[in-house]
Amino acid sequence: MASDLHMHTTYSDGRLTPEELVAAAKDAGLRYMAITDHDTVGGIGHLYETGMYPCKSIRIIPGIEFSAHHPLREIHILGYNIDIFYGPLVDKLNDITEARWTRFSEMVAKLQQLGYDVSETEVLTLAGASKSISRSHIGRVLVKKGYFPSIREAFDALLAKGQPAYVPHYRLEVREIVDLVKAAGGTPVLAHPKLVGDDALVERICQSGIEGLECFYPRHNEEDTQRYLAMADRYGLLVSGGSDYHGFPTRYPTELGVFTIEDQWAEKFYRPVQKL
Ligand code: AMP
Ligand code: MN
Ligand code: MN
Ligand code: MN
Repeated sequence: MASDLHMHTTYSDGRLTPEELVAAAKDAGLRYMAITDHDTVGGIGHLYETGMYPCKSIRIIPGIEFSAHHPLREIHILGYNIDIFYGPLVDKLNDITEARWTRFSEMVAKLQQLGYDVSETEVLTLAGASKSISRSHIGRVLVKKGYFPSIREAFDALLAKGQPAYVPHYRLEVREIVDLVKAAGGTPVLAHPKLVGDDALVERICQSGIEGLECFYPRHNEEDTQRYLAMADRYGLLVSGGSDYHGFPTRYPTELGVFTIEDQWAEKFYRPVQKL
């Protein structure tokens, strides 16, 4: 069977609710799945509250995806099996998501100064129930209003690091995220190393206390995958992988089950008894 350890819900910038995502994962025949929303465990909490977790027909691994500070590079760190009720984690996530509100309104102000007719209300309407407002939401508004044919083009022109509407995240160092995930009982994993764009930096992060590397990822080619598998082996890291499914028709993979990993990798992250 197949597994997927990286996907998003409406709690961050995904299209499906946690229930819909679990249903879609079951339909796709997945055995292990991890929900890894940006800076929030709200989707996991929601599954706990609705009694959909634990689930008999699919093994759910609670997760999260953090963004680390770097002047040039995008460094994302996944945390698997964190205790979502751990006080210091809850406090930090509140600070981070609150900072996302200030950041999104600063980005909208920058866009307005650049002459784009976008409002905070439009972004918030599109973001719906999300508590983790991101550049994805802003990008989608820019596409919806006809400024760009795709979100990628909106990023390239305005939203990416170094572009005129970019505003940095709440400042969190790799080390801080790694320590927080571990303190919450979880396993920190460096997400999509290819997207960091600098393998020397990836190797330094591999030696920063991180415990896993996301070797399998849709934008890794075979050579990338082999290189990161060798790196994981060299630094004694767990191997992870997932689709980074967001549920939008313009972003590959558009369906669950199209990009999966073998269960032998996923089962190492699974903990049958969760604190409820
Ligand atoms: P943020 O968390 O606000 O920094 O926004 C980052 C999110 O935007 C990522 O999680 C992706 O979902 C999305 N994203 C980043 N770069 C691109 C891109 N080039 N094209 C489309 N979506 C992107
Ligand atoms: Mn995203
Ligand atoms: Mn990411
Ligand atoms: Mn992701």
